[in-house]
Amino acid sequence: VIAAARGQGKGSVVTSLLDGKATAAVVKAQVAAQALSLLQAGQPAGLAVIQVGTDPASTVYVRNKRRVCEELQLRSFAFDLPADIEESALLHKIEELNADPSVHGILVQLPLPRHIRTELVVDTIAPHKDVDGFHPVNAGKLALGRASGFVPCTPAGVVRILDHHGVSISGRRAVIVGRSNIVGKPMATLLLQRDATVTVAHSKTRDLPELLRSADLVVAAAGSPELIRGAWLQPDAVVVDVGIHRTADRGLVGDVAFSEAAPVASWITPVPGGVGPMTIAMLVNNTVLAATRALSATQRASTPGEA
Ligand code: NAD
Repeated sequence: VIAAARGQGKGSVVTSLLDGKATAAVVKAQVAAQALSLLQAGQPAGLAVIQVGTDPASTVYVRNKRRVCEELQLRSFAFDLPADIEESALLHKIEELNADPSVHGILVQLPLPRHIRTELVVDTIAPHKDVDGFHPVNAGKLALGRASGFVPCTPAGVVRILDHHGVSISGRRAVIVGRSNIVGKPMATLLLQRDATVTVAHSKTRDLPELLRSADLVVAAAGSPELIRGAWLQPDAVVVDVGIHRTADRGLVGDVAFSEAAPVASWITPVPGGVGPMTIAMLVNNTVLAATRALSATQRASTPGEA
């Protein structure tokens, strides 16, 4: 445990970093072991990553996803499609990948160009290959607490970091700032399933500082640089910062003003090195899960006399 702000700020509060890099390394080691078993069983886990256009941020994310696949011995299928591709051609490509047994996970990097309907694209990915967990079937399974779906990678990564550091969730008063379908909403469901008392704040929430002062677990996913100030936090709160913003003068910053919040919090994620590394780790985790499920289904189908 690294002390981030020992002796600063309020009284005896000692802040420790929630280390996303270290947690991601543990997850990736587990994924590598599973990927190796799949390889030895003759069914290497395969992830198809589709990028439409050349948005620079998307290019970096896609490159990292493909690199981690290769590092861990997953097969990576790369599709770089032109920005002006017709929607129907993209849907056709996804349907081809749905039918390809060597592809276990399909990821379409968002955002998509405006002429393409994102909802339609997400709905076209077969739910059992939807390793991002965005398909309505997987969102529904998550809401119902069914384990057979896929959980969106970023909120799943947040829970994993907390567990890795032994930070309890049960009984906490959690405030999530942000209600997007990919972070805020699934985060709320996951924390509820782990017995936190959950409030979801959003752009129309009145008096966010007052609300945050009641929280002993804060998950910041508003997409607004350094929105959350140290003075808004309860002493000893656990603070998880999902935000990532590139600034001209200070490099990468999150949705939380780290230097103010660190002395107040008991645990806090840094940016970078917090939630960021977890997203890719959970993506490859979901991909080996998809491949393992596919292998079991094949084995069940080929075992005579079993239903
Ligand atoms: P989004 O823009 O889809 O949603 C933002 C949400 O925050 C909305 O629900 C909005 O109502 C709420 N919000 C905005 N301003 C607010 C305010 N002042 N007070 C309260 N609520 C407010 O964003 P998203 O896709 O959920 O991403 C959120 C942030 O997380 C972004 O910075 C994004 O870059 C980052 N992100 C990081 C990772 C990662 O791997 N670390 C993954 C996904 C997203």
